[in-house]
Amino acid sequence: MTGLMTGKRGLVMGVANHNSIAWGAARALAAQGAEIAFSYQGEAFGKRLRPLAAEIGSTLLVDCDVEDVASVDALFATLEREWGRIDFVVHAIGFSDKNELKGLYADTTRENFTRTMVISCFSFTEVAKRAAAIMNEGGSMVTLTYGGSMRVMPNYNVMGVAKAALEASVRYLAADFGPRDIRVNAVSAGPLRTLAGAGVSDARLMLNYQRRNAPMRRNVTHDEVGNSTLYLLSDLSKGVTGEIHYVDAGYNIMSMPALDELKA
Ligand code: NAD
Repeated sequence: MTGLMTGKRGLVMGVANHNSIAWGAARALAAQGAEIAFSYQGEAFGKRLRPLAAEIGSTLLVDCDVEDVASVDALFATLEREWGRIDFVVHAIGFSDKNELKGLYADTTRENFTRTMVISCFSFTEVAKRAAAIMNEGGSMVTLTYGGSMRVMPNYNVMGVAKAALEASVRYLAADFGPRDIRVNAVSAGPLRTLAGAGVSDARLMLNYQRRNAPMRRNVTHDEVGNSTLYLLSDLSKGVTGEIHYVDAGYNIMSMPALDELKA
């Protein structure tokens, strides 16, 4: 199938490098004909993004730090000025102090709790509001979440709490914008090796554990997460909104480790 996104334009936020989940999504979208604008967090990331964006013919790249609401406003003002309207958004942004992505959740500081929530959760609400304002003919938005929102994942700590709030935001935003034919969903990805992922203590153990115990006995790939994001942004999912769509080789359905693992 080709051309699922032909004629559609949208924003991808969160490409830090070629391992970013957002880059997997951008590749999948571009392969189906989407025109993509990127936002990046500061010039150091801008430098890494430029050659990647060039690979898929993107030229609209905007610096945006979601901690600074003026830069979020400026991003959407640029999109409106350049394109008039957009059809989709990928929000693949998360941050927490890595010193708190280990040990006890109970030790989370007020300062890092607030910062984690603003960057990893509330930024999606701010982005969604501004994106919806320039989605004149309906649209679709996807954010990235992780199963540590629903079940305790050692060391994921405050990120799990932020992801739970992010998932609730998806449902409220879906209800807000549904009447305008704007859909809001999340992809809950299994663990992948990325810059942000490496910030969680013992990330490698988590990756190996899920590989051994997921029904499919493997981890997911960037392409698989990208293609599921594409599905949620394309007309193939026209009737779907407010969903948390797991792309985790089935890991989330298990209530105990795989028997072959236990018997090994
Ligand atoms: P990544 O490090 O490649 O991407 C994280 C992005 O967040 C970076 O581009 C970074 O610049 C951006 N970011 C952080 N703070 C920002 C700020 N203040 N303003 C603007 N951008 C900011 O890592 P990733 O794993 O691709 O993460 C993307 C999303 O996927 C995150 O929400 C993450 O929680 C989620 N996720 C990751 C995994 C995994 O295992 N890697 C699994 C499920 C969900």
